[in-house]
Amino acid sequence: MNAIEQQTIQADPWADERRKLLGDNARLERRVAELERKISVQPQTGLPTHFRLELELDTTIEGMGRQKDASFTVLIIQLGDNYTVVRKTLKSSVSEWILYQTGCRIESLLGPDDRIFHTRESEFVLILPGLAGKALNAFLRTLIGKLGEPHIFSGFNVVIQAATGAAYWPLHGRERSVLLHNADIAAGTATENKKAFILFRPELLKSAVEKIELQNSIIKAIERSALDRIGEQFILYFQPKVFASSLEGNILKVERIEAEALIRWIHPEKGMIMPSTFIPLAEETGLILPLGKWLIYQCVRKLDAWTRASKDDLGISINLSARQFRSEDGPEVLASALASTGLDPSRITIELTETSLFEDPTATATILKRFSKLGVRVSVDDFGTGYSSLSHLHRFPLDEIKIDRLFIENLDSNRHDRIIVRSLVTIAKGLGLALVAEGVEKLEAMKILWDMGCTGYQGYLISRPLPADDFLAFRKKVIADGMVIRLDSISPTQGA
Ligand code: C2E
Ligand code: MG
Ligand code: MG
Repeated sequence: MNAIEQQTIQADPWADERRKLLGDNARLERRVAELERKISVQPQTGLPTHFRLELELDTTIEGMGRQKDASFTVLIIQLGDNYTVVRKTLKSSVSEWILYQTGCRIESLLGPDDRIFHTRESEFVLILPGLAGKALNAFLRTLIGKLGEPHIFSGFNVVIQAATGAAYWPLHGRERSVLLHNADIAAGTATENKKAFILFRPELLKSAVEKIELQNSIIKAIERSALDRIGEQFILYFQPKVFASSLEGNILKVERIEAEALIRWIHPEKGMIMPSTFIPLAEETGLILPLGKWLIYQCVRKLDAWTRASKDDLGISINLSARQFRSEDGPEVLASALASTGLDPSRITIELTETSLFEDPTATATILKRFSKLGVRVSVDDFGTGYSSLSHLHRFPLDEIKIDRLFIENLDSNRHDRIIVRSLVTIAKGLGLALVAEGVEKLEAMKILWDMGCTGYQGYLISRPLPADDFLAFRKKVIADGMVIRLDSISPTQGA
């Protein structure tokens, strides 16, 4: 450094400050680069994340925009509920391995121009240039087959369900956000309807908007100010649940007729809405809690009134949703409803779906103990559809298993279903649990069930769900006939 340079530096009073700023800047740039690297890669699978997806979609759209007649597909893959159950139930290494394997399985099917992203824990997104129509269908068949292969661990294997939805660029959206939103709506609809694949179509948007409208009106129907008028819009139907002592030809002799309470929403404009449409909305919004409370009081009061009038041992089953079951005051609500009557608690059965029971087995055991203390019976609904471990089954204080109607509907033609049902009969007998087959529609199916040793039935063959008075009339007639139900004599078209 010559004397003039030295003089200039000494004359610059900001030199130190500038050097410091340059250093800070370099550190900041390094930090930003590090952060970018972090948010670019999903640690469980090593795949690019949502952050990368947005950048790459923009680049793809820009590139395609310059070509004539170019198009590409965005495909969203959502892992089903049983992935969540596995994550909550088993060691985290198991769910991490499942995610890693899923990523590898998808990647193994991709061409050189296809891209994969792991956007949310249970969601993968693909950009597939040039794949549409027949080629997309062929790709999907292989993909769905590959995703449906079991994940094998020591001692057991797990099949993870997946639903997929797709949208085409530019047909279903020119902009990144519209395209992604529409693919998401298609995937959401596939998940809701338990379909392997749905391609976006504008009607899906309409039903998504309808869902929001329905959500708003359920909020209005159950909000605090309307709580005391809840009975104006919601009513209970009752479906007979019978336990048989013999089946000869079409003559079913029954020991007991109970009722399962099934809710219906009488919407002021839309008419009757079935629970499969609004219970998930009530769950999402939390409104299931006031609705469920109302329901429990209704059921207990009805049962009390019926018992006083008929002086016999009618029982009622009440469905509890997952959120209701896990709510702090669930058992207390039932206890205080029972306390206002002189009812024997064992005449109440609570039905919990298999999925809600096995979501968190440790918490489930504690909650079930609180319900058992009350003396009510506990039934596992829709058994066979979720992921459940039989070792947990005998750890819970259960009284009854209801075989899901999926296994019953084709019992006469499907050997696989017969094998499953036969083994459920053996398990239930071994554990001393009552067994009820749901959705019995055909006499053939009932005969097979009877021969296997399953004696509890519910389904349209016996009766559809009925308004309270019709249920009582049905029961009265069966009692008057000497506890006999003639299976072809009951019209299967009444009720709802
Ligand atoms: P679930 O508890 O498994 O109830 C049985 C469902 O199967 C009822 O549908 C019933 O109408 C229908 N079903 C009965 N027999 C047959 C048959 O032979 N064939 C066919 N195809 N279907 C039959 P629903 O009333 O639409 O209820 C659907 C689900 O909604 C119920 O399934 C239950 O999970 C839920 N749900 C109903 N009422 C309530 C409630 O009060 N609270 C809660 N949390 N959930 C409820
Ligand atoms: Mg049920
Ligand atoms: Mg069921």
